[in-house]
Amino acid sequence: MITYKFRLYLKKAEEEKLEIAKEVCRQTYNHLLSELNGRYTKNEIQNYLLDLKVCYPEMNEIHSKVLQMENQRLFSNLSSLSKLKKKGHKVGRLRFKGKNWFKTFTYNQSGFKLIKTNKRYDLLHLSKIGYIPIKLHREVEGNIKNITIKKSNEKWYASITTDAIIKRECGTKEIGIDAGIMNYIYDSEGNAYENPKHFDKYHSELKTAQQSLSRKNKGSNSRKKARIKVAKIHEKIANARDDFIHKLSAKLIKENKFIAIEKLNIKNLMSISYNAKNIADASWGKLSCYLHYKAESAGCVVQDVDPAYTTMDCSFCGTRNNKLEISQRKFVCKKCNKEISRDYNSALNILARGKELASMEKASNTEQFVQQDASMKSEAISLNSK
Ligand SMILES: [Zn+2]
Repeated sequence: MITYKFRLYLKKAEEEKLEIAKEVCRQTYNHLLSELNGRYTKNEIQNYLLDLKVCYPEMNEIHSKVLQMENQRLFSNLSSLSKLKKKGHKVGRLRFKGKNWFKTFTYNQSGFKLIKTNKRYDLLHLSKIGYIPIKLHREVEGNIKNITIKKSNEKWYASITTDAIIKRECGTKEIGIDAGIMNYIYDSEGNAYENPKHFDKYHSELKTAQQSLSRKNKGSNSRKKARIKVAKIHEKIANARDDFIHKLSAKLIKENKFIAIEKLNIKNLMSISYNAKNIADASWGKLSCYLHYKAESAGCVVQDVDPAYTTMDCSFCGTRNNKLEISQRKFVCKKCNKEISRDYNSALNILARGKELASMEKASNTEQFVQQDASMKSEAISLNSK
């Protein structure tokens, strides 16, 4: 399954229609919840929707599958609540949803149509709502399963999920990757991938917006505006970061068939304040996650490596050197005198360790197989001798 996210470009009237649909869905959800009280099954509650429509004629203005999805949402919330309970978490009951806690509604299986126009905007047709301008900046592959309409920071989006399966191909090279301090990452081929420059600009924008927010009076209209501005910048940063990580992981998979990466203990690194911003920015965990996930469909191997001593060991002679200060950018081996950039040395160590681990895993798999084979044989022999 692939999920695409596209922005909707609405005029006032269209936006009002979506607001109304969202509001009716919220009320429907709350009605169903109040009726539920643990007494009914999913199907019984589904039938209750028909009764509700008699009392609340505005529900007839909403596509029936969209309303059914509220029943779906209710029961899926219930099941996640009971899962939490089983895990020993203290949980209360499901709550009624207030306006600020209800941001989406979903067309499942039917009631929608995408139309490519080759004009400035394409069109999304939603049953009972009409045509809505949408920007399809990517080709939508596969059959559309559902479309979720979402309002986020005063903007509207459509999340389109299809049944397509992503096919990727991996490259031929083998690399080790060090999550750097100065650079975002550094690989064993000597390439540095830096954090995009615009991140700094966003961070100073954020700082200004946060300062301005803190000066506003509580409850005032200008404070509300300032808060929206801060949220918007946060969103901009998150989107830019996500985009960067997506592109970088795709490039790495495309070029390599084996990638050794450092398994980072984010918590440890966050405790060093000098690093906190860089590491948070770098969101190494996300890159690692995307690499593993994309590698799977491409046939590339991503090997996690314990990063202990990777900065201290000499990648040429293997001698363990003294710990480097964060400010020391050069690694100089006390034994073989090899002088090399600190991150490059780490990346080479990570690659070597990754390859060692991968071959050990391979060997232990074969060993297990051989053992299994041997024990089966001895079983067979003992059976025969009986
Ligand atoms: Zn050395």
